Amino acid sequence: MIHYRVGGIRVAEDISLDSMRSGGSDGRFNRRAIRVDEAQGRVLAAAARAAIEQVPLAEAGGRRLAQQLLATSDWPPFARAGLDGYAVRAADTAQASPESPAALRVIDTVAAGEPALAAVQPGTAARIMTGAPVPQGADAVVMLEQTAEGMAGDERTALVKAAARPGQNVAPQGEEFRLGSPIAEPGELLRPGHIALLGTFGYADVPVYKRPRVAVFATGSELLPVAAPLAPGLIRDSNSPMVAAMIRQHGGEPLLCGALPDEPEAVREALLGIGAEADMIVTTGGVSVGDYDAMAMLLRGLSPCEPAQQLSGVSQERLLFNRVSMRPGSPTSAAWMGGKLVLALSGNPGACFVGFELFAAPALRAMQGDPSPQHRKWKAVLAREIGKGSPHDRYIRVSLQYGEDGRIYADPLAFGKSSMTASIADAEAIAVIPSGRNGAAAGSIVEAWLLPQ
Ligand code: AMP
Ligand code: MG
Repeated sequence: MIHYRVGGIRVAEDISLDSMRSGGSDGRFNRRAIRVDEAQGRVLAAAARAAIEQVPLAEAGGRRLAQQLLATSDWPPFARAGLDGYAVRAADTAQASPESPAALRVIDTVAAGEPALAAVQPGTAARIMTGAPVPQGADAVVMLEQTAEGMAGDERTALVKAAARPGQNVAPQGEEFRLGSPIAEPGELLRPGHIALLGTFGYADVPVYKRPRVAVFATGSELLPVAAPLAPGLIRDSNSPMVAAMIRQHGGEPLLCGALPDEPEAVREALLGIGAEADMIVTTGGVSVGDYDAMAMLLRGLSPCEPAQQLSGVSQERLLFNRVSMRPGSPTSAAWMGGKLVLALSGNPGACFVGFELFAAPALRAMQGDPSPQHRKWKAVLAREIGKGSPHDRYIRVSLQYGEDGRIYADPLAFGKSSMTASIADAEAIAVIPSGRNGAAAGSIVEAWLLPQ
């Protein structure tokens, strides 16, 4: 549907757009910066909750649960032997020792998967296997290694060589869960342990939030498809596949739409043309104050949204913000267009990465019901100085290490400029360096927002 332009030839542009580009009277510098948390709040308010679908349990790992699930039985459902040995009455073994073992008549053998039919009476024991139901009357299981087999006349006996505690090696019925107690909450990310629980309680199909479908558009007349050879002045579009990988990391489904030329009308047409195919749109590039920054021009025409405005169901286009008090990526913008959230990230790969993490990632998590969609935040020791100050808080890419002092260190990565790509792969967290005249000294405590690994 959308093509990369090879050669960077621009088509004739419309006069009004030309006039928007000329001089400083076009409003391109009148963008009001809002705080990152406020921008996140506006994005989250516009992030619509995804629909629900049922998926087979074995495919539910990594999805987010759409409703609370309850235990459908006690767990364990019956008192279970924890190991192979003999089910006994603990009182019968109170005096037992290796020198004078307790001799108990063996009345039954219970394998896993079989019911325990005979009750253990005083002076008797039942041979039992791991996972088998503990017979009536028995209150402990003695491990096989602490017993010997004997005969009393023609009767089998168990010689128990150690005193058993009541309850020893028995998992009582309902020890972990009672019938009807909650086992997983809505919005929870289903990890392997949740899958085990859901299997335990018979949930063969699981209600999860649908993966949000996210259309990805790169903008920039200099962009080549990844498979193309380099040509003078052109670069490959690395943002689209990076953003697609990030969408997947956060549970979404990317819809790669290629690169658009730096032409606002073409961009608008493409974004609106995506229609019902996507739940959200991410664009990269063209949000700054350059003469050809198509997204910025496009968004400049939108009326701003009231901060408290509920956008779902609103058909008009609205600007959520077009400047954020942060570095990198202060021109990062967001809008409501075609009835969906549009996040317009910087084209600079480092800024694109940070912008996605700050805004698209929480939005995707919220769409899938995550009750706390913000990043996990740790305090970390800054491993080296951040030299210069900044009027905006800085969100720098760091690796994390344990220091010998047992504290966690955030180490700013080399090649960390917003325009740079080399350090993105090594980023384990984004450290927040507060705005101010000076940067931050090595050893100062910073907030580190953990990235998915
Ligand atoms: P922009 O945000 O359009 O001003 O672009 C900022 C810088 O990022 C420029 O050097 C662009 O060439 C580069 N850039 C823009 N889009 C992409 C992309 N999709 N992949 C890689 N680099 C890009
Ligand atoms: Mg550009």
